[in-house]
Amino acid sequence: MFSYRHAFHAGSHADILKHYVLIHLVKYLQEKPGALTLVDTHAGAGIYSLIDGFAKVSNEADGGIYRLIQFIEKQISLGHSLNEDITHYLDLIRNENTQGNIELYPGSPFILARLLRPQDRLKLFELHPKEIDILRQNIAQLPQAKQIDIYAADSFSRLKGLLPPPSRRGLVLIDPSYEDKQDYRYLEAAMGEALQRFATGCYAIWYPALSRRESAELPDRMKKVAANHMRSWLHVELRVEHAPKERRLQASGMFIINPPWTLEKNLADSLPILTQALGQDSSAEFLLKSFEA
Ligand code: SAM
Repeated sequence: MFSYRHAFHAGSHADILKHYVLIHLVKYLQEKPGALTLVDTHAGAGIYSLIDGFAKVSNEADGGIYRLIQFIEKQISLGHSLNEDITHYLDLIRNENTQGNIELYPGSPFILARLLRPQDRLKLFELHPKEIDILRQNIAQLPQAKQIDIYAADSFSRLKGLLPPPSRRGLVLIDPSYEDKQDYRYLEAAMGEALQRFATGCYAIWYPALSRRESAELPDRMKKVAANHMRSWLHVELRVEHAPKERRLQASGMFIINPPWTLEKNLADSLPILTQALGQDSSAEFLLKSFEA
């Protein structure tokens, strides 16, 4: 436990899928003026350097954010029109960087913080003893800091205590490291409790799409949880390669419970572009499925 540091994976293809979907969810929910509570159950450090430290050990951003930027720049040079939502995602990443080069990659806490309106609140959970200190320092520098609460606690057991939020409008991002195989079981239990208390909330669950049994079974388990509470869902996966040995993460997915009606069409437009941009070879592909309760 606690060997996982998100800096190793910052700006990877998996971060792109997760943060792209996250931004769409927040933007949709903000179409109404009512206050929103955003919960990030597994926050990490908040923002990451891509030019030194852990990120330089794995260089996952090379196959992620840097690859996407290169692809988009090529599209611009060819005079092709750009997908607006991918441009919007890239703008949020660029805005954390003052010098033009992408040296910093914002994690979900920063992305969510930057999107807060004055009436919104953000709740962050982080358990790692070092990450929580870095997260606190990073968040303290944001103009939105007063709208943000940080909990050094196990979010699987504490999430239910925040639900339903006072305004009854909320989005929960659940992004475990799955370092502990038990996370799959804890996730299922936490989702059952969360839907019991706040059935109308929007829940976005990230997972690594691996051949390991727990990971392969996760989407079906989430479908059952959603069905028990008669909830709609959307399931998306993005695979960038299909090499025989899973030495590095080749695919990841998001399972969204109570997705906005706009998400499926949005992903149907953007996933072919993201797959083309981030795909390492011809085995790159995406999956997009949904169910309306
Ligand atoms: N959501 C972040 C982002 O997109 O930028 C990345 C988070 S990373 C995948 C998962 C984080 O969850 C790690 O920093 C880990 O220390 C933390 N964590 C692991 N188990 C936890 C738990 N039970 N409660 C809260 N945080 C936990």
